[in-house]
Amino acid sequence: MNLKKKKVLVVGLAKTGVSLCRFLTREGARVTAVDVVEEEALGPPAREAASMGIALELGPHRTETFCACDLIVVSPGVANNIKPIEAARSAGIPVIGELELAARYINEPIAAVTGTNGKTTTTSLLGEMLRQSGLSVFVGGNIGTPLIDYAGSPMTADIVVAEVSSFQLDTIQTFRPKVGVLLNVTEDHLDRYRHFREYVASKARLFRNQTSSDVAVLNRADPVTARLESGLRAQKVYFNTTSKAQGDPLRRTLPATPFYGAEVRGNEMICRLPNNVPVTFNLAHLKIKGAHNLENAAAASLAALAAGGSRTGIQKALDTFRGLPHRLEHVRTINGVRYYNDSKATNVGAVMRALESFDTPVILIMGGRDKGGSYEGLCELIKRLVKKLITIGEASGKITDALGGFTDSQTAISLQQAVRLAGHAASPGDVVLLSPGCSSFDMFADYAERGEAFRQAVEGLRR
Ligand code: ADP
Repeated sequence: MNLKKKKVLVVGLAKTGVSLCRFLTREGARVTAVDVVEEEALGPPAREAASMGIALELGPHRTETFCACDLIVVSPGVANNIKPIEAARSAGIPVIGELELAARYINEPIAAVTGTNGKTTTTSLLGEMLRQSGLSVFVGGNIGTPLIDYAGSPMTADIVVAEVSSFQLDTIQTFRPKVGVLLNVTEDHLDRYRHFREYVASKARLFRNQTSSDVAVLNRADPVTARLESGLRAQKVYFNTTSKAQGDPLRRTLPATPFYGAEVRGNEMICRLPNNVPVTFNLAHLKIKGAHNLENAAAASLAALAAGGSRTGIQKALDTFRGLPHRLEHVRTINGVRYYNDSKATNVGAVMRALESFDTPVILIMGGRDKGGSYEGLCELIKRLVKKLITIGEASGKITDALGGFTDSQTAISLQQAVRLAGHAASPGDVVLLSPGCSSFDMFADYAERGEAFRQAVEGLRR
């Protein structure tokens, strides 16, 4: 792709937008960057972009600017169907995303992970497995460093491990991962997609450029994945082959023969890949909690084997990986009550999996900014496991309307008060769980700040 002297418009000027400007400038493009946020609110990214000598246009978008360039590159945080982008598209201007641009400049094989939940955990674990196998690995994308930074650097890894979001997949054209992992698809982001089926279609784009020499790692028990798999050209390998049915009885039929994938039997996991002898792993030392993390571990192991990881390297990572902060993270046990921070659970699917991880009564703290989905899926679990539901934030009313009838419920005015109320309601042996099922932006800068506030409130209970 020759970008020399091309007029390129970067839409969205947060961290990835600045990386895009840097890359494009270095490639000799004439770059303009736009953002609806004004300079003062943007802060350092605006100053950094300006220091590169690129044209900045901040505030309300001007369609003329979008229609006066040779190429538009959209940052991952920007919806790719906003009006000025649609107008440019109609005028024949190519529109791609950061993932697509980066992929065109990356020659190394890419292992890409997507799904509604578990992306960051699985991407990190997969990266660790390949590192422990002695490969040089770059891990990035939707997690940590944008891929465009790797594409623009002299670094050469043996393999690139990328976490990719549905928003990034919306703007790919040629992106073709050697190994693609789809963990699960449940309701999320209905504030950005009009229908669930659009969100599903977006996830399925991960596989669209794969060929029969590539590998697709799929969730055997996920009813949505089942609907996609017949259209895939890649070799299919499955995880979650032995778990209980999740809604669709068809998924319980025996795997196709020959069956490739991971089978968990007690503490053993046997992985069978095309053209490979079966490899057995020991799960006795796995530290990440819950059935969902077993799925993540199986998906990562299959992807690692497909990407050239070794048995010993993968086993070592399985034994030592401790999980990530804010994902069902044990904060502390006080008077026999265990406190868990699952602030990253921003949709109902993640809350369900968190609740399913406990067999003791749970005091659940939920709430934040609603994302347009339904909370009904939690009714059964709330009835069965939740001793008390405490709601916070903007979504309190909607959550209480949907779930308040199934258990004792109360609304708190702050997360700190919610933790205090939870502490009072809990008896030794119980679990207090922050698993909000909502985004954090009504009360916090992000999920990490919310998780930190929870941790501090729990520490406050000890005093
Ligand atoms: P993502 O990057 O997709 O948001 P994370 O690994 O950051 O995924 O985890 C986000 C939330 O989803 C956490 O609450 C975590 O406990 C939960 N989670 C992790 N793996 C899964 C899975 N396979 N299925 C459902 N929920 C999961």
